[in-house]
Amino acid sequence: MRIDILTLFPDTVGDMMNESILGRAQERGYIRIETHQIRDYTKNKQNQVDDYPYGGGRGAVMQADPLYHAWCHACDEAGGPVHTIYLSPCGHVFCQQDAKRLSKMENLILVCGHYEGIDQRFIDECVDEEISIGDFVLTGGEIPAMAIADSVCRLVPGVLPDAECFEDESHWDGTLEYPQYSRPAIWHGREVPPILVSGDHAKVARWRRKQSLLRTRERRPDMYRKLKLESKEDKKILREIADDDELAAAEAMDSGK
Ligand code: SAM
Repeated sequence: MRIDILTLFPDTVGDMMNESILGRAQERGYIRIETHQIRDYTKNKQNQVDDYPYGGGRGAVMQADPLYHAWCHACDEAGGPVHTIYLSPCGHVFCQQDAKRLSKMENLILVCGHYEGIDQRFIDECVDEEISIGDFVLTGGEIPAMAIADSVCRLVPGVLPDAECFEDESHWDGTLEYPQYSRPAIWHGREVPPILVSGDHAKVARWRRKQSLLRTRERRPDMYRKLKLESKEDKKILREIADDDELAAAEAMDSGK
């Protein structure tokens, strides 16, 4: 997979994307991330990329033309079909399903806006999709672009050692991950749940699944409501959770809570 990022801060974005797992994946040829300085595609001496908004109002808007020429250059370099994303608070909110979908594409172009945003005509002509990383406003599209590139790239085969690395994680199957622990077994008087040091892999897997369901129910009832828990094992765990709930309710009644 190849990702081209159009930005006013190519060095910052490049430094971040060339670190750690993504850096190694690029060295090994699983992914390629290129950044493009939008200012290099201006036709004025000051390399200015923005101008006043038509209709008045505060701030500036990124002009269509430099963006368009940067985009054409990135398309040429990609050399195949591209899917162009503008990072925008007006886009649909990104989730793991989007990361899965985008990880199957050959070439992505991510467009980072600044100021009040970018000229709508560039969006109409070149952008396939607008994506937001949440219902808040940042000063620029670089952090959203890096977040999306990171979450997409780690799903590309070969980037992580195997698919289990991400299939077992939060949001893959609509649940949140179970709690994680590492050595030492006792830290500040807090013990690791004994089952995790039992060496019984089946019991550990079952405990983790139960914790994952409990955590999802408690923290993300919206996600929990959408789960389709139909396997025999899940049904057993659900019965166990219902029994635990009943017991806790009875104990609360007894103690007058
Ligand atoms: N005036 C715009 C609005 O009200 O929708 C906000 C512009 S924002 C200050 C500048 C740039 O930051 C945007 O063009 C976009 O690229 C990026 N940005 C800000 N918040 C974002 C978000 N939640 N998700 C994705 N990109 C965002």
